[in-house]
Amino acid sequence: MQFDSQLHRVPVDLGEHAYDIEVGYGLRNQLAEHLAPWNKGQQWVVLTQQAIFDIYAPVVDSLRAAGFNIHPIIVPGDESAKNIRYAEQVWSEMVELGCDRSSILLALGGGVVGDLGGFVAATYMRGIPFVQIPTTLLAMVDSAIGGKTAVNLAAGKNLVGAIYQPKAVLIDPDFLATLPRRNVISSLAEAVKYGFIRDVSIFETFETRFDDLVALNDEALLSEIIAKSCAIKAAIVSADQFENGERRLLNYGHTIGHAFETLEAYQGLYHGEAVLYGMKCANFISHHKGLLSKADYLRAKAVLDRFELPPLSKMAAEDILKVVAHDKKYINGKLNFIVLDALGNGLVSTDVTADDITASLGEVA
Ligand code: ADP
Ligand code: ZN
Repeated sequence: MQFDSQLHRVPVDLGEHAYDIEVGYGLRNQLAEHLAPWNKGQQWVVLTQQAIFDIYAPVVDSLRAAGFNIHPIIVPGDESAKNIRYAEQVWSEMVELGCDRSSILLALGGGVVGDLGGFVAATYMRGIPFVQIPTTLLAMVDSAIGGKTAVNLAAGKNLVGAIYQPKAVLIDPDFLATLPRRNVISSLAEAVKYGFIRDVSIFETFETRFDDLVALNDEALLSEIIAKSCAIKAAIVSADQFENGERRLLNYGHTIGHAFETLEAYQGLYHGEAVLYGMKCANFISHHKGLLSKADYLRAKAVLDRFELPPLSKMAAEDILKVVAHDKKYINGKLNFIVLDALGNGLVSTDVTADDITASLGEVA
């Protein structure tokens, strides 16, 4: 079948927790086939949000029609769902539905549903299997991979959670057709990030096919970029499940980007947009420190400048430095800052100073 020939399978090598990520257009219409090996007549739960269910209820209907004993559970459509109160509500609904340890949870949604769903699955009856079915690009290339699950506290985001791996991640890029463009385009930031830190071929695709990527009009190209992104994230997190070493590379663009995001109080900027600004600063620093050649710095800048970004609010350098100082990226008193010494090669630097960061802000003023 044509469908199968276009399916990318990315194995995630986590020993006894190994699983596959599958990427293919139309996969959502083939879920029954993909999930059948796990269907033993137990209760299944689809955790999702109303806006997603309104469009994609047929996905659940088709599983029911294929003999799955399946029930949707709906949580709020925004970040407020990542709260222990909703986790409790979902646990309780699952008890009422008769879910036991053999039940399987499908997280159908973006980062919010994936993080909450993973957390509920990690904790319900001490852990039940779950499957990520990401519906946003950010979840497809980033948050659904790596096993991080969490809820927020008033004191901060993601403060309570677990590392818990899914049984599978099933990615149908066709879900992106119903997302607002700004959500999709900003999330390409995470894909270009993998290009910068690990795989120059991803960077080159952004260089040569930027318009096609942003327009989502080449299915083969988009599937390939998503699959490559997943493979890089999976390789990095499998080598470093508990985030002591390599996983720090994923923070590229995020140290300063996170400061922008925080100072905008998560309102004005999407995560990916803040990271795009953060990558501009990180590349400036990489060049300024003599690591990244002028030619590579300019190539990188040309790609990053093609993303249309909302203007950054005026921020004082000292406020940015304060947020950076509060970040967890200090290890033994040293800032661990991700720089590039070539396109496609990120590394950790411990000698990026406050002055370097301040100098880099000229890049985004
Ligand atoms: P992200 O993964 O980008 O962080 P969220 O999980 O916060 O995104 O989801 C953003 C919003 O988009 C939510 O309101 C969610 O219900 C909605 N949403 C998610 N996926 C889709 C989709 N494929 N089509 C339409 N709306 C969606
Ligand atoms: Zn990110």
